[in-house]
Amino acid sequence: MKGNFAGVIINRLALNIDKIFDYRIPDDLSDNVTVGSHVFVPFGRGKKLIDGYVLYVKNETDFEGDVKEISSLASPEPLFDREMLDVANHLKETCFCSYISAIKTILPPGSGNKNKTNDKFIRGSRLNLPYDEAFDILETLRTKAPKQAQILEILIQNDFVADSDITLLTGASYAAIKALKEKGYIKTEVIETLRMPLDYDDIKPTKSPKLNAEQQSAVDTVTQAVKIQKSDTFLLHGITGSGKTEVFLNCIENALALGKTAIVLVPEIALTPQMVTRFVSRFGKKIAVLHSALSLGERADEYKRIKRGEATVVVGARSAIFAPLKNIGIIVIDEEHETSYKAENAPTYHARNVADYRAKKSGAVQILASATPSVESYYKALQGEYILLSLKSRATGAHLPEIIISDMRDELKCGNRSCIGSTLMEEIQKNIDRSEQTILFLNRRGFSTFVSCRSCGYVAKCKNCDVTLTYHKHRNTLTCHYCGYTIKKPDKCPECDSKYIKEFGTGTQKVEEELKVLFPDISVIRMDVDTTGTKSSHQTLLNKFSEEKTDILLGTQMVSKGLDFPDVTLVGVLAADQSLGIDDFRANERTFNLITQVCGRAGRGKKSGRAVIQTYMPENQTLELSGSQDYISFYNEEIQMRKHLNFPPFCDMVSVLLTAENELSLTTYSQNLAKDIHKVLSHEKVGGFEILGPGAASIPRIGGKFRQRIWIKCTLDEKTTDIFTRLRNYHIKNGKNINMIIESNPYNTL
Ligand code: ADP
Ligand code: ZN
Ligand code: ZN
Repeated sequence: MKGNFAGVIINRLALNIDKIFDYRIPDDLSDNVTVGSHVFVPFGRGKKLIDGYVLYVKNETDFEGDVKEISSLASPEPLFDREMLDVANHLKETCFCSYISAIKTILPPGSGNKNKTNDKFIRGSRLNLPYDEAFDILETLRTKAPKQAQILEILIQNDFVADSDITLLTGASYAAIKALKEKGYIKTEVIETLRMPLDYDDIKPTKSPKLNAEQQSAVDTVTQAVKIQKSDTFLLHGITGSGKTEVFLNCIENALALGKTAIVLVPEIALTPQMVTRFVSRFGKKIAVLHSALSLGERADEYKRIKRGEATVVVGARSAIFAPLKNIGIIVIDEEHETSYKAENAPTYHARNVADYRAKKSGAVQILASATPSVESYYKALQGEYILLSLKSRATGAHLPEIIISDMRDELKCGNRSCIGSTLMEEIQKNIDRSEQTILFLNRRGFSTFVSCRSCGYVAKCKNCDVTLTYHKHRNTLTCHYCGYTIKKPDKCPECDSKYIKEFGTGTQKVEEELKVLFPDISVIRMDVDTTGTKSSHQTLLNKFSEEKTDILLGTQMVSKGLDFPDVTLVGVLAADQSLGIDDFRANERTFNLITQVCGRAGRGKKSGRAVIQTYMPENQTLELSGSQDYISFYNEEIQMRKHLNFPPFCDMVSVLLTAENELSLTTYSQNLAKDIHKVLSHEKVGGFEILGPGAASIPRIGGKFRQRIWIKCTLDEKTTDIFTRLRNYHIKNGKNINMIIESNPYNTL
């Protein structure tokens, strides 16, 4: 539609300008300015031009003042259409975020970047000093030139960082980088980005195996719904290896035959070449892959293929739900229980909700697949909101692993302080004797090993945040995982001068060292954030494990899913209890999922498998049920607990997180706010709500800012969503120097 005026949202994150401004469209642009146009406009008093996005075009404006004119186009083509704009509007309404952050979420990759660089080459920096010297300099810079100190800190933690990332992360200018360079502390390097385009021609096409009766019936049911454009949601539940992937591959094939398109979401961690190859071998060039390991340029290329309609099946991690596909017939969410489907930064959407919105709009069906569905989804299936499709046996006929629960309290009694108990030790030995492979899984959130003094108990903590610093062995540093604060590991205790200041906790490095002592002749591959820093190392390590028949693969979360190695017959879970101790109502669910997933790695081939679960709480039901992959019993236990304590799915949890530098004004403000929320919810007759807090957040201080949280249990519907939107607007006007984030059903509750 042509028009005289355009509504433009300014590409700046400042909340006071987060609204639509009307601009006149000059005649020479009247053919080009439309919804989704990226434009330059004059803004503010000066002559400065700022970029923004056109959200609508119309013939009249109600703005009474002087309407300015759009100056030029910032991109030749519109960046989104009305359909995607609707998605952004939906995000804004449901995520309590700024308008511009919702818009940015739907933009094609790289388009928010005004400094268009040739991203095949990246200019960046690295340290030009030994670590020890860098630390000394870091300490002096902290007071004299804090920005330069931050840059140095980042380069101590990372080998190479793009200059654009440095400025982005620190807010420092290029001048600060230059200053460090001139002093000789860092040096510039230009590297070529790894282009890893898919080699479609190298991947042999495959056909579907003949489906078993359960699979076929699932495919038929789904295909029928696609045909009549009934926006049903199917929950595809079946143990690992039961053939779920085959089911949705066939459903997609049928949808394509009906002229439809499809989106498949998989957890980032599962986007391994193994998985991608499986898709490409079935759908060839119709597949577009979107994930963070691709360079911006590669992602932009894939985006274009989607827009032009060349790619009709999009496979990707969470954000692939924003792929600009037309005529969607199916949206699949594989491993739907995965917490990585929830965005942690604004807009804090859950991919499941966005999928639901898009599916309903385009008459598409959804398939949520999992061996361990989220309690919320299974509840919906039992309530009839979702249609349950169950696969009851492993497609290949392989058996579930035998589960051995190993009571670590007995080990302690016998004086064994090692992280590998005698049962697991014996089983590993059996595998070594038979030349079979083993996966050892260290159940930890993060990977932290901290440093403490054995004499006085001093623990090294971050000076900005109330958390312990994490020890990184190969750099001998202590780093804060929240704010990045980094120091050299002290040689003696800063409190009592004792030299017995040592690392604590069971990190993967420590387990690796123990393994080498216990089994001196075996080969071990360790996989954690320290060893998988670069883009391709994750896959390189896995290839090595499978090709060189390495004895043991040891790792954190990364080894728990998606891997399919037929020679792995033993899985050891080193500290099964770790995630049970966390005070979060999802703790049981998380543990159940993790252990089920890991145990599913054993015995996938012809040989049967064993899983050893080491625990200090052998009587804990969740552990036992996960070992036997008894989801239904787990669910029945869990849903009773949720009902009893009123947790989701019986309510929504809305978190209002408030942060500020001044603790006193933060506390006063939070307390008044909680009272106000109570008043409003009562006044508007919201049923059965409950307010918890305000109280200090689990981490009471991050980056020098104090943190308070208010929890509101209620049902999020139109009315309550509107109340929280008003709350946010009220805060933007009144909450000076206090930051507020409202989030519905957050996973990260620290
Ligand atoms: P899931 O997604 O439930 O883990 P997959 O679909 O990956 O299960 O199937 C597990 C293995 O079984 C794969 O190697 C797959 O090719 C194979 N498979 C699946 N269905 C069949 C079938 N009907 N006949 C033979 N093999 C099958
Ligand atoms: Zn001490
Ligand atoms: Zn910190």
